Amino acid sequence: MAGRVLLQFFHWYYPDGGHLWNEVAERAESLAAMGVTDVWLPPAGKGANGGYSVGYDAYDLFDLGEFDQKGTVATKYGDRAAFENACRALSDHGIGAIHDVVFNHKMGGDEREAVKVRRANPDNRNEIEDEVFDAHAYTRFTFPGRQGKYSEFIWTHKCFTGVDYIEDPSDTGVFRLINEYGEGEWSQEVDEELGNYDYLIGSDVEFRNRAVYEELKYWGRWFAEQVPVAGFRLDAAKHIPAWFFRDWIGHMRENVKDDLFVVAEYWHPDIGALSHYLDLVDRQLMLFDVGLHHRLHEASASGDSFDMRTIFDGSLLSVHPEHTVTLVENHDTQPLQSLEAAVEPWFKPLAYALILMREQGTPSIFYADLFGTEYRDKGNDGNDYDIVMPRIECLPKLIEARRRYANGGQTDVFEDPHCLAIVRHGTDDAPGSVTVLTNAGENAREIELGETHGNASFRDFLGHREDVVTTDENGKASFPVNGGSVSVWVREDSL
Ligand code: CA
Repeated sequence: MAGRVLLQFFHWYYPDGGHLWNEVAERAESLAAMGVTDVWLPPAGKGANGGYSVGYDAYDLFDLGEFDQKGTVATKYGDRAAFENACRALSDHGIGAIHDVVFNHKMGGDEREAVKVRRANPDNRNEIEDEVFDAHAYTRFTFPGRQGKYSEFIWTHKCFTGVDYIEDPSDTGVFRLINEYGEGEWSQEVDEELGNYDYLIGSDVEFRNRAVYEELKYWGRWFAEQVPVAGFRLDAAKHIPAWFFRDWIGHMRENVKDDLFVVAEYWHPDIGALSHYLDLVDRQLMLFDVGLHHRLHEASASGDSFDMRTIFDGSLLSVHPEHTVTLVENHDTQPLQSLEAAVEPWFKPLAYALILMREQGTPSIFYADLFGTEYRDKGNDGNDYDIVMPRIECLPKLIEARRRYANGGQTDVFEDPHCLAIVRHGTDDAPGSVTVLTNAGENAREIELGETHGNASFRDFLGHREDVVTTDENGKASFPVNGGSVSVWVREDSL
């Protein structure tokens, strides 16, 4: 059986009202049958906007929809019982639960504190003014609704590197909190964009505070006792010192599960930056392939003028395939979101075939592509837009094709600028496939599969082509594909 297939089971505009955990439980069986091996769930902790938080405005990591905090007991996705039920349903069907972990920052502080700050230049964070001044900030997190259950840790300004909002004097910007760590500097081993990209948003966590560090290790162990955990997706990794995850992942693998799956969101298009980060974390984790996502976006916007032979150029996949999670879309790239670089719908079957049928990389499927969605939001220009993200019709079949036919060695036939073929040669017990795709008009690739496939009949598993392809005695045939489409040719006797 082929490797992992992740499903990102949410998108930015998933409806409020506590439906998601129930939907996970309801769909678990069909996802397993399709070939999804792991489900990436949204952040389970309580956000600053309670039942309306997508989850990245982390308030209380210990409140999994259990306490009356920030206006609701349940999170946007449901209450704690529903969350536990969803995780159990996945586990019962052999699907791993990958949990989204937001460690970089906290938002929605419960109390105001007197703090001392220095102002930093937002465009070059290493330029911090010498002047220290008194102010107030919402940096005290006491979690009054939880009252110390599970953890009595109180967060104060000593637990944070900086804030973006102060009072007395009231101001916004980037403010370095004066604390006893790092001699006034931001954390090291973070991304170098804006000089030093430690500070992202809200009250940004001070990992150099030993008590904070221990609390986050404790939280990881605690969380894994509450629900099944197959792995973690680490949010905002480029804003968190690499040494922290270097230690934290090892700690989790020792205490929770030695084969824990870990993928970090390090959103950077440059392979050099990603490779450097992989080295810093001793290659203990995987990264999303931002470079490939950009190529897929570009190809989709270029129609038949894009040279498909270059589709993997600049991708993490081409350099560190064993550390790469590939994706076509996510909650940040979908239309109207912050990193918007959506892949156009016509190209998505091709894009998914490229990440699902090849040996390299661990593919991640986006909820909205599998099930479709519609939403309305404001664009950057302030106007309202109605967005329709159609269900990609052939996606369930492509996921199934990975499970059943993406087996054995691989030959990339990347000769034609518009028509690519990926041959999977199969193994003694598992059949292979010939995937043909084109971004131009109807085409075909002539491929010789060898005598074991002599005089054999092939059909398109996706059903985009109705014809039967028959090989000659050497296993050679011309495998066709419709214009702007993809076909996955498999032996008729393996269907
Ligand atoms: Ca940070």
